Amino acid sequence: MTTSGVRVRIAPSPTGEPHVGTAYIALFNYLFAKKFGGEFILRIEDTDATRSTAEFEQKVLDALKWTGLTWSEGPDVGGPYGPYRQSERKDLYRPFVDKMLDNGGAFHCFCTPERLESMREAQRAAGKPPGYDGHCLHLKAEEVTSRVAAGEPHVVRLKVPTEGSCDFHDGVYGDVSIPWESVDMQVLLKADGMPTYHMANVVDDHMMKITHVARGEEWLASVPKHILIYKHLGLEPPVFMHLSLMRNHDKSKLSKRKNPTSISYYSALGYLPEALMNFLGLFFIQIAEGEELLTMEELIEKFDPDNLSKAGAIFDIQKLDWLNGRWLREKLTPEEFVARVLDWAQENDRLVEGLKLAQSRVTKLGELPPLAGFLLANDVGLTPASFGGLKTSPAETLEIVTTVQADLEKILEWNVTTIEEELRAISDRMGKKLRVVTPPLFVAVSGSQRSLPLFDSMALLGRSVVRQRLKVAIQVLTAMAGAQN
Ligand code: GLU
Repeated sequence: MTTSGVRVRIAPSPTGEPHVGTAYIALFNYLFAKKFGGEFILRIEDTDATRSTAEFEQKVLDALKWTGLTWSEGPDVGGPYGPYRQSERKDLYRPFVDKMLDNGGAFHCFCTPERLESMREAQRAAGKPPGYDGHCLHLKAEEVTSRVAAGEPHVVRLKVPTEGSCDFHDGVYGDVSIPWESVDMQVLLKADGMPTYHMANVVDDHMMKITHVARGEEWLASVPKHILIYKHLGLEPPVFMHLSLMRNHDKSKLSKRKNPTSISYYSALGYLPEALMNFLGLFFIQIAEGEELLTMEELIEKFDPDNLSKAGAIFDIQKLDWLNGRWLREKLTPEEFVARVLDWAQENDRLVEGLKLAQSRVTKLGELPPLAGFLLANDVGLTPASFGGLKTSPAETLEIVTTVQADLEKILEWNVTTIEEELRAISDRMGKKLRVVTPPLFVAVSGSQRSLPLFDSMALLGRSVVRQRLKVAIQVLTAMAGAQN
């Protein structure tokens, strides 16, 4: 592997809660950069304007900062190849698209959404794989020019060979061959002039002088498209490395339904970033038993991209707990430990804001731990008895918590106002009074029927912790409702 002037990047899309998978890929890139004295860069890929939000971008930055990884270029620190946010680079992409239109690597497509839908319908009915059928591929140049001049809505698509295969080398997978017939004529430029992920990603990797692209294996199938774009632009592709995804114990893809996946969940529960990085770093290196406890410097020293760990990346929470415990006990002085605890309790202002919420509810300060402790606790010890005093039956309580759990995922910005609005809307939709819907939630998030104001508490706990508590509540309630039938 050539490694002179290494420049690597993490390129998250700010479309959801920052995922531990992002930290995992970021760490690989960071170790790679450090190993070879290169640069590690952060780029925000927000070409999907409907799903990207400023709140999620801030969360990505905060979460990655919390991990302790540092980047030398990025939207927050600037750098010579900025801007580092794709939505601010819109005008930079057009000349590259034009070049591909000129040299036949891309074509205009005027197909309406209705036509594309009926095409997909027909493909489904015929049991064919979905993909653009090439309808606009052979339009005459004069027709294209006049339709574009007339302002007819259109996109630009990638022209893809119909025969043969795309053969390339991947730093992890080795030699890969993907038949061209399985590659779709990808949209490169959308009707609003914004590039799609594929176009922007390739142009930016080129303009930002990225030498090695290390990312999740879910992108391996996109490499042929990227290689074609590089080819039509007359550019040399970077070295590709596709890392195996982290998986649950049962080998299924790590998803928030099975395991908490948000970085913020792990920070809220009091995992040390060093322990999480140590845990993730073990996926990349080969070590003997007994050598697991490693600092970032030690990870860098042991990291060798030509000799990556062959074991799959199983997200084993017990191993993470074990490492975190060792970090807390063995790697921190008593003073450091206390400082970490205080920092952790202040995270997102939850201690200060929680105390303010509790002020009007206590007669003695000693009542604070049972009243507000749920804001810091790992879990609130839910049992069937926790829900025992509610007016709603276990089945109705379960219905409420399950509906709320699903609907809360739709909130884009997580704060007191949006949570309250959403819970009111959910109550309306369920045909129930808000005061019927909230008591089960009180119990689910705090473990008690008497606690701090619900909406504020949920905002302070954060989306990922609330999600986990509702999940546990659903498990307890499902068992209760089942037992009653
Ligand atoms: N924006 C993509 C993601 O969030 C980046 C993929 C890549 O690294 O090329 O997964």
